[in-house]
Amino acid sequence: MIQDISPKKYHVDYSKMDPQPADKVLAFTDGKILLKSDEKDIVFPEVKDVGSCLTYAFSIDDEKFFLATQKLTIKGFEYCDLRSQMYKGPEYYAFAVITGMHLNTWYTDNVYCGRCGTKTEHDSKERMLRCPNCGNQIFPKICPAVIVGVVHGDKLLVTRYAHGYNGNALVAGFCEIGETVEDTVRREVKEETGLNVKNFRYYKSQPWGIVSDLLIGVFCEVDGEPNISLDDKELAEAVFKTREELPTFDYNPSLTGEMITVFKEGKVYGTR
Ligand SMILES: [Zn+2]
Repeated sequence: MIQDISPKKYHVDYSKMDPQPADKVLAFTDGKILLKSDEKDIVFPEVKDVGSCLTYAFSIDDEKFFLATQKLTIKGFEYCDLRSQMYKGPEYYAFAVITGMHLNTWYTDNVYCGRCGTKTEHDSKERMLRCPNCGNQIFPKICPAVIVGVVHGDKLLVTRYAHGYNGNALVAGFCEIGETVEDTVRREVKEETGLNVKNFRYYKSQPWGIVSDLLIGVFCEVDGEPNISLDDKELAEAVFKTREELPTFDYNPSLTGEMITVFKEGKVYGTR
């Protein structure tokens, strides 16, 4: 998955740091990222190409990444679609792209205090924005969401969204305020397919910065009859597929892709 960058190590701890000429720059605008044009791999601009107006984001091993705080124009670079970078190398740069996107969204959404409208300031010790007028402290926003592998016997429920992404999907949705993760799983499966579920098994989680998510992968089993009643506003299709019918992926950076793969290979709910 996209966050599996071992042996490299991601360091998110914040400190006020001055950018150095060879540090990498993450520059976003309108959901796109600034990268070198016509390159097969991801090539970021460097601090020496940019100058000032940068905020420290994170490090991967000793490589430091800074966020641009204004729109940049650099010769030989162009703003590229974010999702198309997921399949490019090096893999830890793809992780840097979506993680930088998450941080950038948080910073740009909190330039002004939501309580009183005053311009916020960066705290010098931790990743926090502070309002100098009313004292409001704003910490990074992470939105939990579930990805649900609904199992019936030797079949897995595969969906296709009615809008947007058109590939194979699993039941998914954001946790609402006041819900446990289990509540969200039950509600989303019921809303999208009409099914009841039981026997929850936590699988893995995944930070997915494109929409500020933390995805929580859960497998569960159908409770009762597997009769699907589709929510056609959300889904175009929801079908139970056998292991043989499930798709294979050459490389899939998503938790959804890995959950489909481990079920297909019999590594969960399997006897193989
Ligand atoms: Zn304020």
